[in-house]
Amino acid sequence: MERLNGKVALITGSASGLGRVAAELFAREGAKVVVADVIDGGDAVRAIGAAGGIATYVHCDVTNEDSVTAAVAHAVDTHGSLDVIYNNAGVMLSDDDNPVTTPLETYERTMDINVKGVLLGCRAAIPVMQRQGHGSIVNVASFVAHMGAATPQVAYTASKGAVLAMTREIAVIYARQGIRANALCPGPVMTPLLAKFLSDDAKRERRLVHIPMGRFGAPEEIAQGALFLASDESSWMTGQSLVIDGGITAAYVTPEG
Ligand code: NAD
Repeated sequence: MERLNGKVALITGSASGLGRVAAELFAREGAKVVVADVIDGGDAVRAIGAAGGIATYVHCDVTNEDSVTAAVAHAVDTHGSLDVIYNNAGVMLSDDDNPVTTPLETYERTMDINVKGVLLGCRAAIPVMQRQGHGSIVNVASFVAHMGAATPQVAYTASKGAVLAMTREIAVIYARQGIRANALCPGPVMTPLLAKFLSDDAKRERRLVHIPMGRFGAPEEIAQGALFLASDESSWMTGQSLVIDGGITAAYVTPEG
């Protein structure tokens, strides 16, 4: 039994990284997927089609309200509904550091994409979901919404805390209207985003020390959490944070000390 049978899912930032892996998994589970990204998503759409799934690409910049509204309209016009919005697009900029040295432009760009982008995704999707009487919103935060990171990235951390708080409030507002909203909080997974930030062995090792399981996550391990939150299997779950992090947030001291 496919877990997203008949559902339409729009995933922002799904031309690459975690979003792309989720797009492929959602399609395998029966969803019609809208790949929405600032970069070309043709490859992702072709891969899904080759595996027997259904997907379309729409150019979408999550910082631009018209662009996000058009992406949601594309989902409804092309596939007939919008059952799931997975607000996954996000950035971690390489000069994001401590509060004293992080350039304000870096802070502003991070908040624009990671927080306003999620707000705009919800703003566009909610009226459609209200008309349908159902919908699942999955917003990507991070484990750093719960913990301070030793490798400073203060703008990113602030942005993910905001996503978590906003998700809880959205969940409460719309709980009686059949719309659920949950935050997915991944630990470090080696996608292009993290590879750029943890650019040398010393930084990578510094991060690995804090992971009880002693390894970075795999994109599929995050996509499985998104699938659960997107599907009706999580039908009595809203306003929550699903942390998938190899044990990071559970640890005081790791086996390596
Ligand atoms: P990635 O850089 O590999 O992919 C991000 C995707 O978002 C790209 O396809 C990019 O083109 C797209 N994007 C960027 N700006 C956009 C915009 N303005 N509009 C639309 N799309 C845009 O990153 P990833 O590692 O796959 O991260 C996906 C999400 O998961 C992000 O929100 C990130 O913060 C979060 N996350 C990642 C990790 C990790 O370790 N990789 C950990 C915790 C949370």
